Amino acid sequence: MKIAETLASMREVRLSFDGTVGLVPTMGYLHEGHLSLVRQAKAECNHVVVTIFVNPTQFGPSEDLSKYPRDLDRDLKLLEPLGVDLVWMPTAEVMYPPGYQTWVEVEALTKGLEGAMRTGHFRGVATVVAKLFNATQPDKAYFGQKDAQQAAVIRRMAVDLSFPLEVIVCPTVREADGLAMSSRNKYLNEFERKAATILFRSLSAAKKLYESGERNAESLRETMKEVLASEPLAQMQYVSCADYDSLEELDTVSGKTLLSMAVFMGKTRLIDNFVLG
Ligand code: AMP
Repeated sequence: MKIAETLASMREVRLSFDGTVGLVPTMGYLHEGHLSLVRQAKAECNHVVVTIFVNPTQFGPSEDLSKYPRDLDRDLKLLEPLGVDLVWMPTAEVMYPPGYQTWVEVEALTKGLEGAMRTGHFRGVATVVAKLFNATQPDKAYFGQKDAQQAAVIRRMAVDLSFPLEVIVCPTVREADGLAMSSRNKYLNEFERKAATILFRSLSAAKKLYESGERNAESLRETMKEVLASEPLAQMQYVSCADYDSLEELDTVSGKTLLSMAVFMGKTRLIDNFVLG
């Protein structure tokens, strides 16, 4: 497993690869969710590149950039046995050299949900992912369904900017009790961690209602809200029942649909989603 920091040293290794290349972009502090993307990339591509970069431009001023958990040694130990060929860990200066002023904006898709709560977040995400695509030139790039809007934004951007690659969205990996794995789960205290299953339980209740035949989107949103309200430690930020591709809120559920939510558990903001249909 080669490890590179600069653009030039990463490019040198990348150019030595024959065959297809799969890219797995991460912010590090890896867990099974990240590793599942690496395994899928490994199964489908000749070479796997993992990037570890805590991207400052996707964090708002009041968000957790400086506190974001980091453990590079542990990350590398987890990646090595999976047969990763190259880990690129650029510094902020490598990604955003002095005088930086070029940005990627995906429009309508970034207005609602996470985009409405986190101003500028998706401009940072789209920009850094476009830069990672340009620098590593993968054939396939792997993202998690856990971050549903991010996946939708990147699929759109890849088409709109003519990136010659396939965006692959992999299923959300969960803890045994249903909590979606996330680097931020580490912030939860013992009580919040137990209470955090409320997101999975809320989504499950709405899914069950859908499976019993309910197609009124507002009823599904109400069900999610009611279950969340039953947990005193949970503070709902939003719940959504939206079209899977456009992310527009629905009145009636017909095709592929995204149920999603953001919830504060104490100071920690958790997101989760289910896909219906
Ligand atoms: P992050 O390091 O949080 O930026 O995540 C890097 C990639 O891993 C993104 O594509 C995430 O959607 C994906 N990911 C994070 N958590 C999970 C999970 N629990 N299951 C599947 N993919 C995940």
